[in-house]
Amino acid sequence: MKHIMVIDDSATIRMSVEYALKRPGFLMNHAVNGSDALEKVKNIKNKGEDVALCIVDINMPVMDGITFIDEFRRLDKYTPVLILTTESEEEKIKAGKKAGASAWIVKPFKDQEMINVVQRLMR
Ligand SMILES: [Mg+2]
Repeated sequence: MKHIMVIDDSATIRMSVEYALKRPGFLMNHAVNGSDALEKVKNIKNKGEDVALCIVDINMPVMDGITFIDEFRRLDKYTPVLILTTESEEEKIKAGKKAGASAWIVKPFKDQEMINVVQRLMR
């Protein structure tokens, strides 16, 4: 079973990502901040299953997206990480890429945009 992590403190955003990406063979996992996501990633890996993609918001309480990416990259060097951002967050996008993010998408996104980026990252 391959897992997709959807990490955002907004339930509305998490649902819209899940709605855009529902595809057979993938299990969507929601997390509300970076710390919640790391715990869930560790549980998945401990079961011997794979995280195939992380989609992560930048601004979240407890642990933000940049810190999450940094921590995630210590566990997993290659799995693609897609940043969810707003147009005003250019500096944070740079920090995210430096931490090891693969790409970013600006909120609000269209379903097809999300699908295209994810297909490119998971090829
Ligand atoms: Mg947020």
